Amino acid sequence: MGKGSFIVVSAPSGTGKSSICRRLLQACPEIKFSVSYTTRVPRPGEVHGTDYFFVSRAEFQRRIKQGEFAEWTENFGNLYGTSMKTMQEFLLQGNDVLLDIEPRGAKKIKQNFPGGIFVFVLPPSREELLKRLEGRGHEAKDIIAARFAQAEDELKEISWYDYIIFNDSLDKAANQLMAIYTAQQCKRIRLRTKIKEIMRIK
Ligand code: 5GP
Repeated sequence: MGKGSFIVVSAPSGTGKSSICRRLLQACPEIKFSVSYTTRVPRPGEVHGTDYFFVSRAEFQRRIKQGEFAEWTENFGNLYGTSMKTMQEFLLQGNDVLLDIEPRGAKKIKQNFPGGIFVFVLPPSREELLKRLEGRGHEAKDIIAARFAQAEDELKEISWYDYIIFNDSLDKAANQLMAIYTAQQCKRIRLRTKIKEIMRIK
């Protein structure tokens, strides 16, 4: 697709994925975040254009019809989608792109765009997962139960991800994500132009 590459991070809800991703973006400004579109209502503190593009269902459906999404999915009655244009622009400019999306969308990206790295973040234990889901504080009990059921489904998708991070400490998990990204940057295939230059191969 272009000179950049992309890193896709998925995790069950409440696993601390957003904090880990934020750390990566702060440490590596050359990585651009793919801001998704969603029909979900913004949570306190969320900013349009930074966390998500918050749009109506009608607008989201219009964008689906126009083929604007690299992938999209429905999650708890809300639609979420990755903008094809955003991804293409960043990758063509040579930027690396970070996508924070759930496994169904991640799978579509894996099938349609070769060359990405797929990272799954897990809580340290099952008990901790439940505790974290309960601890978010802004959702009703039935929603928490549904999120837990969904987390169980998402865990089944682990098998095709490249890397797993157990988030028992934010520092450690963020460092692991950075290490994965750094390793990707050292891949021979990514450095072929530089290698040719040094070997004077035309
Ligand atoms: P939340 O509503 O908590 O922000 O996100 C719910 C889930 O939707 C998270 O797992 C998040 O990674 C995922 N998500 C966010 N944006 C997208 C997207 O564009 N596509 C897909 N498939 N999932 C997304």
